[in-house]
Amino acid sequence: MDLLLIDDDEVDRTAIIRALRQSKLTFNVVEANCAFDGLNLALERHFDGILLDYLLPDANGLEVLIKLNAMTQDQTVVVMLSRYEDEKLAQRCIELGAQDFLLKDEVNSRILTRAIRYAKQRSSMALALRNSHQKLKELAEHDSLTKLVNRYGFELCLNRAIARVKRSNDFLAVILLDLDDFKAINDTLGHQVGDTLLVQVASRLNDLLRDGDVLARLGGDEFVVLVTDDEHQYFPMIVANRLLKAFEEIFCLGDNDVFIGASIGVAFYNEAASNSEELMKSADIAMYRAKKMGRNQIQFYSEALDKEVRYRNHIESSLRMALKRNEFKVFYQVQVNAKTHQLVGMEALIRWQHPTDGIIGPDQFLPIAVEIGLMAEIGDWVLEQACAQAQRWLTQLLPTGLTFTIAVNLSASQIDNGRLFDKIVHALQLTGLPPSALELEITENCLIEDPHEHAKELDKIAQLGVRFALDDFGTGFSSLEHIKLFPISVLKIDKSFIASYDKDEKDTRLLTALFNFAHGFNVISVAEGVETMQQAEFCTSRHCTVLQGYLFSPPLDAMTFEAKYILPLLTPTQVRM
Ligand code: C2E
Ligand code: CA
Ligand code: CA
Repeated sequence: MDLLLIDDDEVDRTAIIRALRQSKLTFNVVEANCAFDGLNLALERHFDGILLDYLLPDANGLEVLIKLNAMTQDQTVVVMLSRYEDEKLAQRCIELGAQDFLLKDEVNSRILTRAIRYAKQRSSMALALRNSHQKLKELAEHDSLTKLVNRYGFELCLNRAIARVKRSNDFLAVILLDLDDFKAINDTLGHQVGDTLLVQVASRLNDLLRDGDVLARLGGDEFVVLVTDDEHQYFPMIVANRLLKAFEEIFCLGDNDVFIGASIGVAFYNEAASNSEELMKSADIAMYRAKKMGRNQIQFYSEALDKEVRYRNHIESSLRMALKRNEFKVFYQVQVNAKTHQLVGMEALIRWQHPTDGIIGPDQFLPIAVEIGLMAEIGDWVLEQACAQAQRWLTQLLPTGLTFTIAVNLSASQIDNGRLFDKIVHALQLTGLPPSALELEITENCLIEDPHEHAKELDKIAQLGVRFALDDFGTGFSSLEHIKLFPISVLKIDKSFIASYDKDEKDTRLLTALFNFAHGFNVISVAEGVETMQQAEFCTSRHCTVLQGYLFSPPLDAMTFEAKYILPLLTPTQVRM
């Protein structure tokens, strides 16, 4: 055992060495008579134990103790020696890392042996404890699959980094990355392959980062990178681009090679996101936007995005109450015969009379209604309202012998839930509207999944005498297969074709071809979004059957529509009835 004895008093040193000799310890002792020499010796070589006098000419024992602790290995034990009994001092020494505190007068071979032995044991126990604590900490803060920092570990890093940049004014950002379609890989190739992919992704990302950047796996297929920089505010964009590029190369997973994309959201530490929670939330919002915008891309959390999210939340919360509070209105837009410009029908279009924001158009709230699962309910409501209104107008027009069709838009949620037939029958029975007066507008997107099942359901409804119109024709798949498969009687040519038909010759020929197609297929064609007389005349000259658009009228509330289009068809006596 190698021991260092630091004591300025030669007599004391001799006494201690004598006591040691009488003990059963085999040891080697090196002596130092001041703190300076003692510290130097401890720095030069390793000692198993240090016996340290509290009172030294050039320093007090506590200072020496602190320095010794800072420079010696954990395995070195320090026993403090003092001439005076002092409980408080003894305690302080233990706190500062001494393993024992002995009175010089009491030092004899037995006490010294025991002290050194015990101290040695205590020290190795403390070391073991520290090691296992370190291991536990590692386990708690790391992900076992990828060996990256986990969510908990990342939070600690982020909080520490935020505290740092608050002082240094460095730039800090988090880059959140979520794999696109990871679930499909798991589902089709199995979880083991999924795990292999995650490990490969982790290592690819890791290779791209600088020292000091923190890469973590938050769980599932979600990764996050913490980057700080003292110079460049926009460096996270560079990093994010680099990360996205990592997905351009194929991943080799045993027998399968797959391409996988990633959606990335970036949020900067600033006033808007000034703590770890806000920052992570912002990155999450940006990442979801990247998903929504078509995946495999980067989105940054910005003030505009923030506004959008707030507005969306505002709409979402009031949307849930809107039906109950009777805030929806159905507007009607006239459809006219292309040749005579006489009324042949109207399209029902929903509006929302928002309690604080005024009238809101369907494009602003229907997508949200779809997301929060309210669309089917809203769609059913429109259907009943429109059927009831149309039946009232048909009744009014009865003496004239005139009729029309009411067109109602259907959403995918109404078509998918397998209850469409019952709903239609119910609406017709409830309102008394003849089936032949009802036209249901559907888009191809609604029918893509399970087209054969949907065709059966639509056929059943068509058997009732209800017509189907294919809305926004020309913008989606425009599959001829679909037109054959579904009972379509009307093609609504999308307004973008009408708007741009005279841009160049190709556009003109395209619109002509669309009308020819409808004509040849023997279905009614409706030109949507007709705004000018030239457009109307062109459509009519190309066999278009029905026109709809601002040229004739914007969508109107029921009362205005009635005053403008229904009442003028009646003679004065009929109006009075
Ligand atoms: P859509 O079915 O294509 O309806 C036509 C849209 O074009 C309407 O917008 C209408 O106001 C607008 N429009 C009419 N004439 C013109 C014109 O001359 N020029 C231009 N630029 N636009 C014109 P709106 O009312 O804002 O409705 C937007 C979309 O919301 C509708 O597109 C439809 O997809 C959906 N929607 C509206 N009401 C309902 C509903 O009750 N149920 C479902 N499922 N969807 C609805
Ligand atoms: Ca429509
Ligand atoms: Ca349309």
